[in-house]
Amino acid sequence: MQRGSLSSHESIPVITVSARGATRLKAGHLWVYRSDLAKTGDIAPGVLVHVQDERGRKLGSALYSSSSQIAIRLLTSAVIVESKLLPLLRERIDRAVQFRKQFARDADSYRVIFSEADLLPGLILDKYNDVLSMQALTQAFDRDDLRRVVTDAMSEHFPECSLFERVDPHIRQLEQLPARESQLIQGGRSSTIFTVNGVRFHFDALGGQKTGAFLDQRENYAAAARYAHGEALDCFTYQGGFGLHLARVCGKVTAVDSSRPALEVAEQNEQLNRAAHVCGEIEWVEANAFDLLKDYSTAGQQYDTIVLDPPAFAKTKRVVDTAIRGYKELNLRAFKMLRPGGVLVTCSCSFHVSEGEFLEMLGSAAADAGRRVRVVEKRGAAIDHPGLANVPETAYLKCMICQVIE
Ligand code: SAH
Repeated sequence: MQRGSLSSHESIPVITVSARGATRLKAGHLWVYRSDLAKTGDIAPGVLVHVQDERGRKLGSALYSSSSQIAIRLLTSAVIVESKLLPLLRERIDRAVQFRKQFARDADSYRVIFSEADLLPGLILDKYNDVLSMQALTQAFDRDDLRRVVTDAMSEHFPECSLFERVDPHIRQLEQLPARESQLIQGGRSSTIFTVNGVRFHFDALGGQKTGAFLDQRENYAAAARYAHGEALDCFTYQGGFGLHLARVCGKVTAVDSSRPALEVAEQNEQLNRAAHVCGEIEWVEANAFDLLKDYSTAGQQYDTIVLDPPAFAKTKRVVDTAIRGYKELNLRAFKMLRPGGVLVTCSCSFHVSEGEFLEMLGSAAADAGRRVRVVEKRGAAIDHPGLANVPETAYLKCMICQVIE
């Protein structure tokens, strides 16, 4: 294999990207796919690289992965030397923390670092009250020196918090990193109770039923509770995120998930909240939501509020049509079951299904259900999951609040 050429001032590998790769970076995206590298030498995993176009024009500095399809994640359009890397990362971590402290003030749980959106591509860090959960998604953020910057910054910014590393074995495989167990890195606590909009949840990073939460829905839970009323159905409830919020304003909530372990934690979360305040009746149902919606709608069951928050149906572009058919089936049945004035909170976390496509699907589902529906709010992820303007992948979550007028 040909060796990557080296920058003259320091031994930093230089990677030449194809015209397509260069156009992508010039348009403000941070990724270059392996197929868009014009020339790579034998470059070590996870190192700082300088990026240039085919005419030798410098495009910036990036972190390199020797195995991922996303070969390059740009850090900065400047050409930086190795000694500037760690201080740059530290500055960005500080900025990410400050942004959350300013804008997620009223929450004890939020995403502290959101990868590309904080210009820290490959790093995710969530805060659950007094436990921090870190995920290193790339070879670069698995480097000891980079991890040290993160752990030092966290013990300074959140001295009261333990720090836990959550390992996704599939990602470590893709990055060709040696297998590692999830583990506590700092402090002695791996479980806690955290609060979202006044609703309490268990978090247990290492316990039998590992818990966590979809923190991106934090503000949507509160929005859903503003419109919810009467009898409610929460499909894909997981550990009760929407359901427990609905139970504060609805007399009866049916919450459905196909995962028994998730529902067991949901029930424990219910107990936690019953002890603290009045909570409507909740029935946890283990079922396939597609089957349940079909059976209930055929049986003429009606609701005043329905939430649909399924897992991502379109993990790749190829399956977008199938995904949209899946969304349509769910939403059509939900529209049919809502009483006049009823509210549908419907979400999609598939990046490959755009907001436009999702709204079009909703319109078509409403028409097929024979209902007049208005979209009351078009929402996305909470403020601690901001989207980076030129990296559309960071703005994946759609949450529409609809009302069936008649
Ligand atoms: N609404 C939740 C997050 C949902 S994540 C919250 O705010 O916390 C998606 C959930 O869908 C997972 O809990 C998964 O177990 C569940 N799920 C996946 N396929 C399902 C199906 N066909 N029927 C019911 N639940 C399903």
